[in-house]
Amino acid sequence: MTDRRSDCLFCKIVAGEVPADIVREGERTIAFRDINPQAPTHVLIIPRDHYPDMASAGAAGIGLLDEIAREAGEIARAEGIADSGYRMVFNTGPGAGQTIFHVHGHLLGGRGLEWPPG
Ligand code: 5GP
Ligand code: ZN
Repeated sequence: MTDRRSDCLFCKIVAGEVPADIVREGERTIAFRDINPQAPTHVLIIPRDHYPDMASAGAAGIGLLDEIAREAGEIARAEGIADSGYRMVFNTGPGAGQTIFHVHGHLLGGRGLEWPPG
């Protein structure tokens, strides 16, 4: 039984109530393509359980980050961007651009990525 919120878009994607282009399913995570991609590969990796952001995940956060990082590595290999490089981003808080308050890591790659980001 996953912890979910009825008013959360990403919980609905986890539940299969909103369609998404799912690229990989992990034990505690799912990954799907961003609807408004900012790079040739732009995949969101999210926990099945609802946490507004990584800071709210508490003790579960370490395990989640571990799985998200591993899933990102597998997806990057499958997408052919493991060697050219990719970026994981967790926008946290409105000032950092977070618009969906169900924690998600952005996996971006397939183009040059400037640093620092805008
Ligand atoms: P944030 O701005 O919170 O870091 O990222 C939210 C991301 O979710 C955005 O990149 C946005 O394009 C994506 N997004 C918003 N609504 C949907 C949706 O219904 N489906 C998918 N696949 N992505 C979405
Ligand atoms: Zn949620």
